[in-house]
Order: sequence, then C-alpha cells, then structure tokens
Amino acid sequence: MLRLGKMSQKELRKFSEELEDAENTARIRLFGKAARKYRKLANWAKAVKPDLHFGMKFLAHLYDINDTIVSQRDPHRTGVVREFLKLRGEMEEVEVTVSLLGSGFGVFTTTRIFNEIYAIHLMYEGMESKSAKMVRDAAELFLTISDEFLFYSRYMKPLKRRVTGTRAALECEARAQIIEGTKLADPNPSGAIPHFMIAVRALRAARLFDDEVVYRRMLMGLRAIRTCWFCGRRIQGSSHLVWMESEVSEYFVNLLRENNEDLRMVHENKITACIPCFKAINKEADRIANIYYARLQEEINELRRIIASLARRT
Ligand SMILES: [Zn+2]
Repeated sequence: MLRLGKMSQKELRKFSEELEDAENTARIRLFGKAARKYRKLANWAKAVKPDLHFGMKFLAHLYDINDTIVSQRDPHRTGVVREFLKLRGEMEEVEVTVSLLGSGFGVFTTTRIFNEIYAIHLMYEGMESKSAKMVRDAAELFLTISDEFLFYSRYMKPLKRRVTGTRAALECEARAQIIEGTKLADPNPSGAIPHFMIAVRALRAARLFDDEVVYRRMLMGLRAIRTCWFCGRRIQGSSHLVWMESEVSEYFVNLLRENNEDLRMVHENKITACIPCFKAINKEADRIANIYYARLQEEINELRRIIASLARRT
C-alpha cells in the first residue's frame, strides 16, 4: 500500500511496523502517544515521500487535538487547533485512516476533516469576537459536510452536541443574526427585530428549542419599545414602561408627527412613561397630597375642638 521508492526493504518493513504500531495506539485512544509516534513517522517519511509525510503530520496534529479533548482541556485555547489548521495551506488532499474520538475508525479525506475543524474553530472565534462574518464563513464550510454527522461537534465548543453539517450551518446563521441584532438592539431596536426573527426561525430549524424560547422572549421585549412622553428617552421592554392617563388632543398628535417623534407614545388618551419619570410624578403627587391631608387633618381637629367646647357650654 505504501510506495516508498527510496527506502530499502529492511527500512520499509520497519516503517510499516511502526506505522501499524501508531495506528494501533490511536485505535486504543492513547492519542498523546499516537501523536508522538506519527510525528516521528512524519520526519522519517519527509525525505522519501512528501504526501505521506503530510499524512503523518496531519494525524500527529489531529491526535494532539484528540488528546487535548480527552484530557478535558479546550483545544481552541491550547493552540492545538491553530497548529493543525496551519497545515491546510501546506498540503494537498490525501486520504487518511483516522481514529475517531467517540468510537470507530475510518478512512477520510483530509479536506473533510479540515473543513469540519476549521468550521468549528471559525464559529467559536466568530462568536467570541462577535464577528457575524466569521460565523457565516463557518456556515459555508459546514454546508460542504451537508447531512453527514460531524465528528467533533459533541466535544468542541461552541456546538457541544451531535449535529449534521446542515444543522450546524443553521445554528451559525442564527448566531450571526443574533450578533447583528444585539449590536442594533440599543441604538436601533426596530432594526434589530428582523435579525432576531430570522434567528428564532433558524434556531428552531437547528432544533435548539431552549435558545428559541430565549430569543423569542427577547423579540417580544424589543417590540415593546416606546418613547417616554416626559423625558423623551427610547425605552426597551414592557417592564420599564407604564401607560398614564392624560388628555392628548389631535393637535399634539399632529405635533409629534411633524417633529418626526415616536407616535407610539400616545394611545387614545394615554401616554407612555418610563419608570423613573412615572415614579417621580407619583412621588410628587404623594407629597402634595400629604400637604393637603395634613391641612385637612388640622381643620378636622380644629372642628373637633369647637364641637367639644360647644358641648361643654350646653
Ligand atoms: Zn422618562
């Protein structure tokens, strides 16, 4: 199976033995040890056959990733993923026999494995740095895997579940929309709404039902955006707003329209108030009511005294 033209028969036998040993080590999931064996084989094959050299190097770096995952460290953080991905530009596509993390062994093209790990890494980096573009680039790569299940999605952030390429791409679309929507939510809430609408649909299609509920709720909050009549601030979320009784004639509605103000702050004879404005008005009303109450109390006491003295006289 190996074409090692420049090797002697003896060398060839030795190489084959060591290759078999490396494969067996990976098969029993001693990935750290397997990585070291493949690294040695890679150096050995370097002068003889570059594509074989790259195949060995590929496996050495891939098993570094596996080893990191098995020892419960984050492969994005330890640098093993970055080192592995550097090989992408260096080598042509070859077929490799890979020991998978969960169970199983298979022959895959290096492109298939590169696409998956690069996609997962781009998605992770994109979500960390809030780059919708990176997350969408990840989606493109996931789509090349289409309805096949991913090998690494269960073990690597941010997916952490068993998914197909298509589902992972759908999740990426949702995450990209959430990144874009979140950036707009404060300065331009109505502009954020379409992003969250697409995100909610994509999350559903990706079978992420808990997240769907979270962002559906956020969408409802976003839709409840009103301007406070008193301070003119745009307020997000129904819990931060109240409707107050008032009297709003057509003149004021027209005035709002002419000034390009938020017409949603008026509804029939009610106006919106943010909680601080509402509380300030309430407290001031209480203060005034208390003054009147005290004055009234004094008058009642005075009246009682008069009645009492009248009673004594009779
Ligand atoms: Zn206000």
